[in-house]
Amino acid sequence: MNRIRTTCVYCAAGCQLDLIVDNGKVVGVTPVDDDPVSRGEPCPKGLSVHEFIYHQDRLKKPLVKRDGEFREVRWDEALDLICTRFKQIKENFGGNSIGVLGSGKCSNEDNFLLSKFTRAVLGTNNIDNCARLCHSPTTAGLVASFGAGSMTNSINEVEKSDVIMLFGSNTTEQHPAIAMRIEKAVKGGAKLIVIDPRRVPISGLSILHFRIKPGTDVALINSFMNVILKEGLHDTEFIENRTDGFEQLAKAVSKYTPEYVETIAGVPAAQIRAGARAYAKAERASMAYAMGITQHTSGTNNVISLANLALLTGNVGKEATGVYPLRGQSNVQGAGDMGALPNVYTGAQNIGDEMVREKFERRWKTNLSPDVGMNTFKMFQAALDKRLKSMFIMGENPMLSVPDIANVKKALQSLDFLVVQDIFLSETAKEAHVVLPACSFAEKDGTFTGMERKVHRIRKAIEPLYDSKPDWAIISEIAKRMGYMMDYNSPEEIVHEVAELTPNYGGISYARLDGSGLQWPCPNPDHPGTKYLYKDSFPRGRAKFNAIEFIPPDEPVDETYPLLLITGRNRYHSNTGTMTRRSKTLYNQSPESYIEVNPVDAAKLTLSEGEMVKVYSRRGDLITRVLVTDTIQEGTCFMPFHFPEAAVNLITNPALDPIANIPAFKGSAVMIEKTH
Ligand code: SF4
Repeated sequence: MNRIRTTCVYCAAGCQLDLIVDNGKVVGVTPVDDDPVSRGEPCPKGLSVHEFIYHQDRLKKPLVKRDGEFREVRWDEALDLICTRFKQIKENFGGNSIGVLGSGKCSNEDNFLLSKFTRAVLGTNNIDNCARLCHSPTTAGLVASFGAGSMTNSINEVEKSDVIMLFGSNTTEQHPAIAMRIEKAVKGGAKLIVIDPRRVPISGLSILHFRIKPGTDVALINSFMNVILKEGLHDTEFIENRTDGFEQLAKAVSKYTPEYVETIAGVPAAQIRAGARAYAKAERASMAYAMGITQHTSGTNNVISLANLALLTGNVGKEATGVYPLRGQSNVQGAGDMGALPNVYTGAQNIGDEMVREKFERRWKTNLSPDVGMNTFKMFQAALDKRLKSMFIMGENPMLSVPDIANVKKALQSLDFLVVQDIFLSETAKEAHVVLPACSFAEKDGTFTGMERKVHRIRKAIEPLYDSKPDWAIISEIAKRMGYMMDYNSPEEIVHEVAELTPNYGGISYARLDGSGLQWPCPNPDHPGTKYLYKDSFPRGRAKFNAIEFIPPDEPVDETYPLLLITGRNRYHSNTGTMTRRSKTLYNQSPESYIEVNPVDAAKLTLSEGEMVKVYSRRGDLITRVLVTDTIQEGTCFMPFHFPEAAVNLITNPALDPIANIPAFKGSAVMIEKTH
């Protein structure tokens, strides 16, 4: 038996795991005791990460749809068809008539080549990735405040924080490795403050739990700052030496008194004062957040407000302080780092910067477009308008993950040509004209970049199953057949190219990743990597306070739709469940869809535990099972988005944050009715 070290594919904590390989087959997984993140205790998802690899639903051969039916074809036939159609569409309508989606489930090497293919071969910047749906406000918000958008500190530093503020995160279930660090900090005397409308398990450890009304975060954070300023608890030296915009911020938050915000957010003024004092008086305070902050029409403003609070108290640029966006999919940080975004190349290098663009043009030996491309939502709208003719989707499943699925389906069906590359026939792949079978993480070499900017290896444990190929190899083959040479003998060569083109990744190579990974910025081969950012300066020089006003959520409840629906993940599944629903252990723990309803609302609607109900919104309806629980506030309800048989995104609110274009997954007005 061999043990092959790899990285968990289910969340961006980046836990290391050993795949156990016997006679060319993965037969199990074991923890890695000296892994600094999991410390030998990965969560149930990590411990069953191998279970989907051999699932009978794996795509075995390329599929081409004829007369509405898929039939298996040879690789040559599928690739020739793709090249012919992409060339025709590009010639007839231009490169901007094609859109591409990268994936946080695929490696850095896969996403880098997809970005290069989009720009150098298709001739467009129309590329985006699943971060649009989870942390696009993090990038937009933290760039506006600090000049760069990523986790400022490292996971293990949380243990040394005196106060931890946790916003909109069911950490115990979604990021168990981070929850373990927080629990250890609390055992050591740290104070935990939780801000979440739901009674999440970790709130049991907190000194204060703010069960705010969904979508009122800006008002609450402004109120914290109001108290801090009124009581002189702000860090004047840090503000003077390292920030701009303080006067405007102070003016803007002056009206957000705790008494006023109590009427908006529904939490007592005394608690607001207590929370603000605890955070501001701490020697070292950190704040972490997840999609309870980002998935609102005010997502970017929420993130900016958090950055304002950290800057006001000088809790940035020091160990055990900082801002921790808890990223979702295993390589969602990497997908963005590799340039699977419409406005930047690798390492957030702006496509509009002429010197940067020329550098990429020289290396890639072609002219590149300076025009910002379309993001996911602009692509779907363009497909509906018949301006976008074709899409290439790698490893993503917008037919379950994007709001108002009926509209997404219409958009995909409006395309002349859709190619999907995946390991299973996802709900999105079913809409494709051509489906290409990709390898799983166990069948290829590569790297993932986790939420703490740490680059880790994934390693090939077994040969590709059936007729599948690594994503990067498929992309190179399509490029070559379209007349553009992408000659890589291994994914390691792709990382060399990334290092050459990307200052933050300049010192990263496979040889250096054999230990416990490297955190960027890592600009040269001798650099040890960077634990925490902004010690001496910010990427924009001085950090900026941005005054933010509270704007009420987009879709308030009313008489017809009296409950506010929040969506998210549960403990046993990851995103659209393409992998976790095919893991026996995880499926058995959570086999079907449900809606959590508060006992008071259940009584009003005469709903009983376990009964099937119809859930309506302005977009559509679905049928699911009721789970009565007081973890959810009266007037709100919760549904996970993992289950196609009751796809919650049939009914979610498609309103977008105006800056980052993230949908308002945390705020859809709905009605629940008995089915009989
Ligand atoms: Fe995998 Fe995240 Fe669990 Fe670690 S915490 S084992 S990375 S799902």
